[in-house]
Amino acid sequence: MVLPDAKNPADLGGGCVRPVCYHNQEGPHGQSAPRDTALSTRILGIESSCDETAAAVVSDGSQILSSIVASQVVTHRKYGGVVPELASREHLRQIVPVVRQALAQARLTLREIDAFAATRGPGLVGSLLVGLTYAKTLAFALEKPLIPVNHLEGHVHAVFLEARQKGCEPALPAVCLIVSGGHTVLYWLERPAHAASASACGELSYRCLGQTRDDAAGEAYDKVAKLLALGYPGGPIIDQLAKQAGDGHVLSFGDTKIRGNPFDFSFSGIKTAVLYFVREHAELAPEIRARQEALARGMRQAEQLKPLCSKMTLDLVRAFQDAVVRDLVERTFAAGEETGAASILVSGGVAANSELRRQFEHRARECGLETFFPSRALSTDNAAMIAAAAYPKFLAGIRAGDSLDAEASLPLA
Ligand code: ADP
Ligand code: MG
Repeated sequence: MVLPDAKNPADLGGGCVRPVCYHNQEGPHGQSAPRDTALSTRILGIESSCDETAAAVVSDGSQILSSIVASQVVTHRKYGGVVPELASREHLRQIVPVVRQALAQARLTLREIDAFAATRGPGLVGSLLVGLTYAKTLAFALEKPLIPVNHLEGHVHAVFLEARQKGCEPALPAVCLIVSGGHTVLYWLERPAHAASASACGELSYRCLGQTRDDAAGEAYDKVAKLLALGYPGGPIIDQLAKQAGDGHVLSFGDTKIRGNPFDFSFSGIKTAVLYFVREHAELAPEIRARQEALARGMRQAEQLKPLCSKMTLDLVRAFQDAVVRDLVERTFAAGEETGAASILVSGGVAANSELRRQFEHRARECGLETFFPSRALSTDNAAMIAAAAYPKFLAGIRAGDSLDAEASLPLA
């Protein structure tokens, strides 16, 4: 096991490692935010649940001292989705340089870290094991606490982390929509009244209100983009192309009907509707081939692909996005109204979508319910949210033992 040495900058590897631009914080070579070294608790968080290897140092659950994310998009692009075996191999390659870079950006040594936190689940078990084992080893070697974090709780804390930095904490109880490539789930969250000590430490309690019965929303974006030869990941490119459809767009998909729990989601129907539309319109085949060739030549930007998209394709992606966003907004606000929530939180990769943000903000104004998002950089998977989620657990004395294992379907309850 290689331990990172932040004092050796020449040793900071990691070809596609990128620092995250986050709110109210300077980059790796800028002036670090001032901190009280004697009083603050610095937690190094590690996230490796899916296709991002990430490490971050967060002070007192509220101040991001560093945040590094190594994305695996290039590795998975040619398959149009995440390949689990390749993901674990990439995490193994990236974990050491990513942790080193997070320490260097925070200008801290390992010994100055007070606790280590890692994602325990849910996620791909081979991927989770890399980050968790590494964090376990660091904690054991340095005799520091290890705190396990649920990935979904991390997404919730991404919202609190940034809201706190702006001085506007979301009111509780709240309804939180977590919407990404692997998850689409609605939670009710509040401060637990029964556990005074946990509540005083800022621990939240969660109740699942509903979740997707098939594809996650981000997964539907990625699959529709693959079908239409728009590249991977599908969310950002569809977000941009949908804006180009203009007001005269003619296509639209109906609302998704779900029996039973009104707060459950389903996105496989809309994905299949796009597939049938493409099959029924043979005239789309030549432009799909042209885009496949363009992607093979590395042309992935919206401005490069847009000239290869007919009006019908732009209308189609717009109709797909409108249907997905409408469904997410309607069910989330319905849950907010039925449960009497004081605010709405939205997090996860799809929360970066510009139309989704616009519609949530519009609806929030209508209902008088404030809606909170993390910045786009902290919407997708990152480790700052893991370190932030670990802080109330640290205060509450929650520690993991040596037997801690990754759990692919870890529930948040
Ligand atoms: P995962 O746990 O699946 O890795 P992330 O939080 O990293 O989830 O989010 C990745 C997902 O978010 C992908 O499915 C991607 O297509 C989607 N996504 C990213 N940006 C956008 C966007 N602007 N609009 C819609 N979806 C997006
Ligand atoms: Mg991801």
